[in-house]
Amino acid sequence: MGSRFEQLADAVLAGVPAGPGDALAVLGADDAEVLSVVAAAGRLRRAHFDNTVKVNYLVNLKSGLCPENCNYCSQALGSAAPILKYSWLSTEEALKQAGAGISGGAGRVCLVSSGRGPSNRDIDRVTEMVGALKAEHPDVEVCACLGLLSDGQAERLKDAGVDAYNHNINTAESHHHNIVQTHTYADRVDTVEKAKRGGLSPCSGLIAGLGETDEQLVEALFALKELDADSIPVNFLMPFDGTPLADTWELSPSRCLKILAMARFVCPDKEIRIAGGREMHLRSLQPLALHVANSIFLGDYLTSEGQAAEADLEMIRDNGFVVLGSEEDSAAREPADPAIRRRGAGTAVVPNA
Ligand code: SF4
Repeated sequence: MGSRFEQLADAVLAGVPAGPGDALAVLGADDAEVLSVVAAAGRLRRAHFDNTVKVNYLVNLKSGLCPENCNYCSQALGSAAPILKYSWLSTEEALKQAGAGISGGAGRVCLVSSGRGPSNRDIDRVTEMVGALKAEHPDVEVCACLGLLSDGQAERLKDAGVDAYNHNINTAESHHHNIVQTHTYADRVDTVEKAKRGGLSPCSGLIAGLGETDEQLVEALFALKELDADSIPVNFLMPFDGTPLADTWELSPSRCLKILAMARFVCPDKEIRIAGGREMHLRSLQPLALHVANSIFLGDYLTSEGQAAEADLEMIRDNGFVVLGSEEDSAAREPADPAIRRRGAGTAVVPNA
């Protein structure tokens, strides 16, 4: 008989959904069981997404100076994090930035702006950008992430060619008031529902490591399942200095794997994206996480740098995955000769230790 996680995978594959108790068991797994958790969740990943990885690219259209007070966010008005701050990029600049991601292999471009929500003038700007982007790259998917939507805005974005709308619930309803006070959990859910009604593919996820309990992480995941989000970005808190959650370090690499696996068991056929904090928190376990999640951001995040885009693509190739929509031979790589040792024993140069 297989492990309890293999049995859970068998049940999910047979059409029996994972319940909150199953999700808690995944989060509570001993570190010695983590490979068994990954192997079992990986079966669900392969069943729905085979060996493909969706590659997404973020363009921060407007950075910082947001009037909202999300405690985790380096762009909030009260944040003293020394991030880039700028107003709207021109259409030309947005296209240039998006083009870099597309040429790096991204199949989806995420156009993001800081702020509570877009004005109708902001929607005009974004629809102009999307029209120009789609004219140049008709096959690329565009996701907009502009904050809380007003009536009619989702429909305007859809008409302009936007495919998806991202608005994360971020955390459990029962924890939301501890994280942000300038808008409510219900406001966030309302925007996801507006996006859906407007014909946009709903993208909504969470941030782990905000001081939530296991039960609250499970609560958030089941809320996303209920919302029927097509794609679920799982962020791991990056505690920026200058924000209220600076010095909040609750995550380990194996904890992050278990969170991603929990998401896969609960939402087996949804796009689970390893989002912000991937490099910081998964560290050398990033490749294992690809066996559970089927989507990543390429390169940099909104206000922080990610690992080099080429390292992302190499990780995908080295682990036998292929970029969704790419024709590239997954084994292709420039050979590199062994580096001859010229330090340490037998030399006057300090050793590599
Ligand atoms: S609304 Fe968005 S940009 Fe503004 S503080 Fe919250 S997460 Fe940051």
